[in-house]
Amino acid sequence: MSALSRGKIDYHQYINSEEWRSKHPGFLAAANYQCSAFPWCKVGKGAHYRCHHVSYANLGNEKYWWDVLCLSPFAHKHIVHGILSGYKRPSEQDYYPNRSQSLFHSYCRLPVPAKYAVMVFLFALAGYLGAGELGMAAGMLIVVLVLR
Ligand SMILES: [Zn+2]
Repeated sequence: MSALSRGKIDYHQYINSEEWRSKHPGFLAAANYQCSAFPWCKVGKGAHYRCHHVSYANLGNEKYWWDVLCLSPFAHKHIVHGILSGYKRPSEQDYYPNRSQSLFHSYCRLPVPAKYAVMVFLFALAGYLGAGELGMAAGMLIVVLVLR
């Protein structure tokens, strides 16, 4: 039994520990070396990545897909901890994950073909609404802000 699984875990100590880092190769393999948000982005095997905590409930005893997702640095910094949280850290949020982050996590857990289907649907919807790319981006931002 590790020091971390015995008692209360210090997040910062854990996240910088060899124990946490030693789990990354398994997480990356489970992610098939694909960003959970943008499956065309490679993660690991030389490509930058972030092992993202979906929740901290099982800190120190994480299971891939349930507790942790592998993300590209962009998706991690600018989406899940960016526009979806107003660039707040989880510790600065009233609730983590908030509703839009939970929705995003659900999307990230979809099988890859379903993710592409979601994207095609969103683009088709934007086209149908005549929104154009800029309008769609603004629309998504509004949805994100409302859900937050
Ligand atoms: Zn994260």
